[in-house]
Amino acid sequence: MGGNEQHYVDEAFITNWIAPLGPNVNSFETSISNYIGENVHVAALSAGTAAIHLALQILGVSHGDEVICQSFTFSASANPIAYLGATPIFVDSERYTWNISPELLEKAITDRIALGKKPKAIVAVHLYGMPYDVSKIKKIADTYDIPVVEDSAEALGSNVNGINCASFGDIGILSFNGNKIITTSGGGALVSKNKNFRDKAIFLATQARDDAPHYQHSHIGFNYRMSNVLAGIGRGQMEVLDDRVAARRANFDFYQTTLAHLEGVEFLNEPEGFFSNRWLSCILTASYEARERIRYALLEENIESRPLWKPMHLQPIFKNATHYSDGTSEDLFQRGLCLPSGSNLTKEDLTRVVAIIIKELTK
Ligand SMILES: *Cc1c(COP(=O)(O)O)cnc(C)c1O
Repeated sequence: MGGNEQHYVDEAFITNWIAPLGPNVNSFETSISNYIGENVHVAALSAGTAAIHLALQILGVSHGDEVICQSFTFSASANPIAYLGATPIFVDSERYTWNISPELLEKAITDRIALGKKPKAIVAVHLYGMPYDVSKIKKIADTYDIPVVEDSAEALGSNVNGINCASFGDIGILSFNGNKIITTSGGGALVSKNKNFRDKAIFLATQARDDAPHYQHSHIGFNYRMSNVLAGIGRGQMEVLDDRVAARRANFDFYQTTLAHLEGVEFLNEPEGFFSNRWLSCILTASYEARERIRYALLEENIESRPLWKPMHLQPIFKNATHYSDGTSEDLFQRGLCLPSGSNLTKEDLTRVVAIIIKELTK
């Protein structure tokens, strides 16, 4: 925590705003929109997953539709497609951002259109905080007139040429889950330049009540709004977001400076104009075996590290899903490792991690 979270939570208690609405929710939304960009509208929600669910619904996804989704991601990017009875079409990554490949995306779109199934939406992800190729993806999406859901769950604080992630898509989503760069313990947000989308999200997230003195409903609603208590945590966290980004980037710089010279260790550099929050520091090793050797050597010292996300098209639950893949994300999954990346790691902690990796790779 940064310091002021408890104060804002106390405010909720003192004023008795213990509800999924209130002054903390409003202030948290304002601070997010001030951060991301003047002309974006924000709805604070109970989770990033809920934000994706609402985003797809607002963009008109329904039963039987197809939705393109980046394969190399956490399952929460794809699950809401299934909630809506739609079918995910998975698209592989490119090397230089590790995110959705523009070439394969276009191939998937033209292929689906030829089959009479024009995709209803594209879910693109800024994985580990590295932005996807926003200009190429937007150009393709515009060419075929398909809306983009920009999954920025891992990318709050990242930008491309100074324009913040979560503001590129037709709808952006954020997560404040406990593992993210800032947290409300659990929470998320829907972000859009289109105020109607934000208003619709709040309507759907608060049980879709019609404008009437009694309880009247013309739509199926959800209970997806953020608690005013948790929004208090979020207000405090926004005050330290830039510090958190700096800390995560310092972790990455330390690992890169101390490990990049080793044979069989690669880092993902920022393409020109890209700024990553470096949510997690990841390395690529020479092989699956080398990756596992490092992981076990760290575990031996009670240090947890994790393989990169397992692509969705390789997940048992999606084994029958259509995918456009060229082996890129599978290779990243085989050889990649997320190193300890917390914002509170000390120089001593990082030095310990690095020493173990160097020892393992030079023995
Ligand atoms: C965390 C995460 C989500 C989901 O957010 P929650 O707030 O945990 O529901 C979605 N997409 C990605 C890429 C994530 O990392």
